[in-house]
Amino acid sequence: MKADSILPTVPIFGIRVSKVDMQATVSYLTDAVRKREPHQVITANPIMVMAALENPSYMEIMKSAELVVPDGTGVVWAAEYCKEPVAERVAGFDLLHELLRQGESYNWKVYLLGSTPEVIRATVSRLQSQYPRIVIAGYRDGYFGPEADEAVVADIVKVQPDLLFVARGADSQEPWIAKYKSQLNIPVMMGVGGSFDVISGKSKRAPVAFQKLRAEWLYRLLKEPTRYKRMLALPKFAVKVLREKDKVTKA
Ligand code: UDP
Repeated sequence: MKADSILPTVPIFGIRVSKVDMQATVSYLTDAVRKREPHQVITANPIMVMAALENPSYMEIMKSAELVVPDGTGVVWAAEYCKEPVAERVAGFDLLHELLRQGESYNWKVYLLGSTPEVIRATVSRLQSQYPRIVIAGYRDGYFGPEADEAVVADIVKVQPDLLFVARGADSQEPWIAKYKSQLNIPVMMGVGGSFDVISGKSKRAPVAFQKLRAEWLYRLLKEPTRYKRMLALPKFAVKVLREKDKVTKA
């Protein structure tokens, strides 16, 4: 079931973004786990919105996701600017941790897919010690081609996890989940980008000062200047919102 039939949403260029805070998001997804209702959860940022506007098949994926949360501060700003504010930013990294914390009370089963073999092993051991009552039912690295998809999906389906986190970069993780979500049939299937790199200690999340200034994107740009090309989507998104203010939230 799509979240927008239950949760309030704001359409950002046609993509329905949830307006509720972290706590309500977690409680909504807890219900999804209880009812075993499959959800593709997309953590939307301006880069993804711009990609969707340029690529109809990516737009289709964003539109058909059962739940889209406002991860990027640019998305939070756009909603506020168009007078349809969301309750707060729901960052994918924080949502991952909140779900694991919640899952401790229910002994949820989790499958972790993505990043390098070394990073995924370190991520499993960190998460297992941080959330001892979570069952890590399976994991594998994210470096495989389409020919391995069937085996990967079968391995995940076999353990019937409650949560599936996929860390393979936004270009491929969201289409991958969308393609296999009906086979996977997992209550929470969420792309988490570089989160395993941070959890494993391979890379650092932006310091709190950057987070408070709503400038995590700037920290990432400083750390990984090669990202600048894709980050041009940020000012493009801002200009589009400013120019098309009246159209942004018209679904
Ligand atoms: N990754 C992967 N398989 C790939 C490419 C990337 O598992 O074929 C992993 C990579 O190791 C990293 C994560 O995907 O842990 C996110 O990569 P990146 O930060 O480049 O992606 P973004 O989310 O920024 O697009």
